[in-house]
Formats: sequence, structure tokens, C-alpha cells
Amino acid sequence: MADIPFLDLRAPYKELQAEFDAAYRRVMESGWYILGEEVEAFEAEFAGYCGAKHCIGVGNGLEALHLTLRAAGIGPGDAVIVPANTYIATWLAVSYAGATPVPVEPVEATYNLDPARIEAAITPRTRAIMPVHLYGQPADLDAIAEIARRHGLYVFDDAAQAHGARYKGRRVGGLCDATGWSFYPGKNLGAFGDAGAVTTNDDELAERLRTLRNYGSKIKYYNEIKGFNSRLDSLQAAFLRVKLKRLDAWNERRKAIAHHYLESLRDVPDLILPDVPQWADPCWHLFVVRHPERDALQNYLKGQGIGTLIHYPVPPHLQEAYHELRFTEGTFPITEVIHQEVLSLPVDPSLNGKHIQYVIEQVLKFYGFA
Ligand SMILES: *Cc1c(COP(=O)(O)O)cnc(C)c1O
Repeated sequence: MADIPFLDLRAPYKELQAEFDAAYRRVMESGWYILGEEVEAFEAEFAGYCGAKHCIGVGNGLEALHLTLRAAGIGPGDAVIVPANTYIATWLAVSYAGATPVPVEPVEATYNLDPARIEAAITPRTRAIMPVHLYGQPADLDAIAEIARRHGLYVFDDAAQAHGARYKGRRVGGLCDATGWSFYPGKNLGAFGDAGAVTTNDDELAERLRTLRNYGSKIKYYNEIKGFNSRLDSLQAAFLRVKLKRLDAWNERRKAIAHHYLESLRDVPDLILPDVPQWADPCWHLFVVRHPERDALQNYLKGQGIGTLIHYPVPPHLQEAYHELRFTEGTFPITEVIHQEVLSLPVDPSLNGKHIQYVIEQVLKFYGFA
């Protein structure tokens, strides 16, 4: 039987082993393991890649978002607009800052925050909007920025799934007040452990983030504020520098796979394929299809040796963790039906044409084609 993993995390190591091993030796011999020159070099390279003025390396993606809200002075009593349809980390960042997440439904076709629904959710307590570029497809940033400008709100985008994605031709990461990144191993740009960063063009936010991530200290042992320990370590930065050079090539491979799926599966009735607006150039973190019999399709593919995942089975508003907000089933119907019907097909850049052809054949077979 075929064995097509959803994601093979060893593939990049095998592909670039000599470079990772050299990076490892360089850091181990340097005697410097947290922040330092290696992290500064990665920060400069990643800021350059994103077209942003600053990059601040932190411990993980959740901290990137949380510390950004803190740096902006957002806290108890404040409200932050978040997508109803997202990974729970976006909401948790708001909660950790002491503020309240206010969910807004997505555009059903793109799964991303619907600008037309944002204004109704804004109150005098609202301080920021946090769009997520879900599955690697950019959110409609111009429409969101226009609303934010009118109401005096920050826009902080969650780009944890969007390394290299472009909005109207420009890479995300320098297009909002600040952008939160995760380098969790499974992301398009992933470390070999936890890691994250914030990119921003705002000097003041950047300065506060550098202080906040390091115990609230600018000068060692002098603490201006009660900060956090959320620092990027030197080994992960060195590994990320190796991978950053390959990111565009790996994203191109993802795009080729996605286009192969889009072309080959478009005639399957009731199978909803990703809808890409003309201004969006996704980085295809995930290739998500929708079908009312999602579970049957997943089980069938599993039986054929094909790994798939569900992103995500339960929306944040129905998670036990958020029972205090008292959202019930039916509160966000678009989000809920998305969660019931989505399935992510493998789009790992290490999969070859034969693998993808096999996945396509099996999906078609499930639907009684071929
Ligand atoms: C992965 C992810 C995060 C969190 O990143 P971590 O590094 O795991 O903390 C945040 N938001 C979204 C949309 C993600 O996919």
C-alpha cells in the first residue's frame, strides 16, 4: 500500500543536512546560545524577506502575538477583533494580554475574516483587529486597514501560516502595524523546535517588544517593566537562516501541487476547492477542500495510505477553554459548517508528482470517477 504522509518533517533535514550540520557546529562552538549574533542575523534576513524594518525573534508564535498586544498597551478592559474561524492561538494571545477576543465570521469562500462584518463588532473598547492569513491565503488587508483607520484601531496580522504569501504583490509581514510569526516545525518556514518572531515598521513597538521578550530589560539586570522570558535561541535562528534561503523554492513546489489539485479535482460535484481572490498569492501552507461527507473521505484516504488532517475540528468559540464567553452552537454558523466539512490534503513540498497523482486518483475514486 502507498504511504503518503501528510507532512514529512525529516525531508528538509535530509535535503540540506550538510548546511544544518555546519550551522549546528558554528553555534555550538560559539559559546552563545540565546539571542546574540546568530539571532540578529536571522532577524535582519527575515525582516528583509518580509520588507519590514524590524524583526524581533521570540519563543513561539503565540508569544509573538501576545507580546505585540502588550507592546501596544492592550490589556484588561480592551477588546480585540479576531476571526471566529482560526486556530485557537489567535484568541489565546488576546486572553493572555488580559483583553477580550471578539470573534467575527469569515467570508465563506476564502475562510478569512470578512471585512463587511467587522464594523458591527466594534465598540468603544475595541483597540485592534487581528486578521489571520489562514491556510496561507492572505486576508483582505486593504479593506481591513480602511476600517481600522476610520476607528483608530491597530491591525496586527497573524502570519503563522503565511510565510512568503503575497497580498496585491507584496509579501505579508510589513503591511500591518505588526505581524506575528510562528516557526513551529510544521509551518512553511519551520525551526527544529519552538520559535517565533514579530515583524514591524514601527520603531516604538519594536523597541518595546525587544524589552518585553527579555524580562523587561534593556540593560542587563536593570528592569524597566515586568517583562517576559520569550527569546529566540541561537541554534533555531541558525537553522532558520538555512531554511529561509529555500523558502521560495519550497513554496513554489507547494503552489505546483496546489495547482495540480485545482486542475484535476475541479469537476467533482460537491467538493469545494480553495477559492483564491485575484489579489491573493497564497503560500499554500494547507490545501483545504470541503465536502459534507468529510469524515468518510478522510477514512477512505487513510485506508489507501494517504495522510490527511482536519484544520480544525472544533472552532475556538465552542472549545471548553472558552466556555466563560458562553457562545453556544449556532452562534457562528459559517465557521461551524467550515469546521464540519474541511479536510486538508497533503501539500508537503517533498512529495513528488507520482504521490500527488495517486492522491488525486484516490479522491476521484472515492467519488466514483475513474
Ligand atoms: C501555529 C499557529 C499559531 C501559534 O504558533 P506557535 O508557534 O505554535 O505558538 C498561531 N496562529 C496560527 C494561525 C497558527 O497556525
